[in-house]
Amino acid sequence: MKSIYLDHSATTPIRKEVIEAMHPYFSDVFGNASNIHAVGQKARKNLEDARKKIAGIIGADFTEIYFTSGGTESDNLAIQGVTRAYKGGKGHLITSLVEHPAVLNTCRYLERKGIEVDYLPVDADGLVDPAAVQTALRPETLLVSIMLANNEVGTLQPIQEIGEITKAQGIPFHTDAVQAMGKIPVNVDDLNVDLLSVSAHKIYGPKGTGFLYVKQGTPFAPLFYGGHHERGYRPGTENVGAIIGLAKAMELADLERDNFFATMHRLRTILEAGIREKIKNVRFNGHTNKRLPNISNISFESVDGETLLYVLDSQNVAVSTGAACTSGSTGVSHVLTAMELSAELSGASLRFSLGRLNDEADIGYVLDVLPSVIDSLR
Ligand code: PLP
Repeated sequence: MKSIYLDHSATTPIRKEVIEAMHPYFSDVFGNASNIHAVGQKARKNLEDARKKIAGIIGADFTEIYFTSGGTESDNLAIQGVTRAYKGGKGHLITSLVEHPAVLNTCRYLERKGIEVDYLPVDADGLVDPAAVQTALRPETLLVSIMLANNEVGTLQPIQEIGEITKAQGIPFHTDAVQAMGKIPVNVDDLNVDLLSVSAHKIYGPKGTGFLYVKQGTPFAPLFYGGHHERGYRPGTENVGAIIGLAKAMELADLERDNFFATMHRLRTILEAGIREKIKNVRFNGHTNKRLPNISNISFESVDGETLLYVLDSQNVAVSTGAACTSGSTGVSHVLTAMELSAELSGASLRFSLGRLNDEADIGYVLDVLPSVIDSLR
């Protein structure tokens, strides 16, 4: 039986076009992009073309793109990079309670090193209040880091507005755009951000690749030391093939973004309407409209989310519990807790995240099996 994958916020299958674009770089074009001979320079040229393509898509200059191993590294490089560049006394960071662990745990680590951190609360829809950012700013604030779209509930943060506030104060602003890329417009000037993280494997590209955008002039230091790759800010021989794949995935995601948004929105509306009609005592988590089009986070009262996940898996439907971006992790979601859901409701939640290969038949199948599975678990 066909398996129905509704966990695209965890990862996506690599597109055929992306595999085709990457293929030569694992055989014919194998050169080290730092070598000056023709073999190396061929790889260098293609690597720099990929950098330019990516920069063009997000409205950046190509010198502002630093290739990394993905979202986690980009978030670390942004937050630790800006903090390390600071040579003054006590520093201060502002973030939110609903960030990805790549941001939250980096901030917690820096707290242990003496940096003070404000973790801003969110409202019941998962939104950060820009006024709270304004209030939390201090003379020693080094960076504000607020995600563009949440990975558990899909809520879109008011990044433009927050960026106006940080810009007026001359404080660097980082956003984690890992989930947002390819679904909504991502332009660094429109968003008013100084640093922005992206990961390839969330947009039908390869795992272990991504980039950090850092606006020119932003105080910034590397996390580790080595050669002059990525202008010395991220040393290590570049994974040219994967970077070519990232650029191809970005190009396709950008070209197809509006259609993709519309398709995801249509399918999710069918899913949510069907669940609302067929299953009682459910709660939809996340903002109604200010939300990614492909994520639906739902609490099924009196059901254990993890058990539900296993039962659906046995019926060939792959979803996540709320807490799981770090897959395999279980328990109460820090995002739903911040949105003031009880531990019980949080533990009764599932995240359905739709993707480009899903169709109405997939949603129909879920709507056929889910009500009886919920009934039996209740
Ligand atoms: N940030 C967000 C919002 C994510 O959803 C993820 C994915 O797990 C990451 C960062 C980490 O990205 P990566 O898996 O590329 O390290």
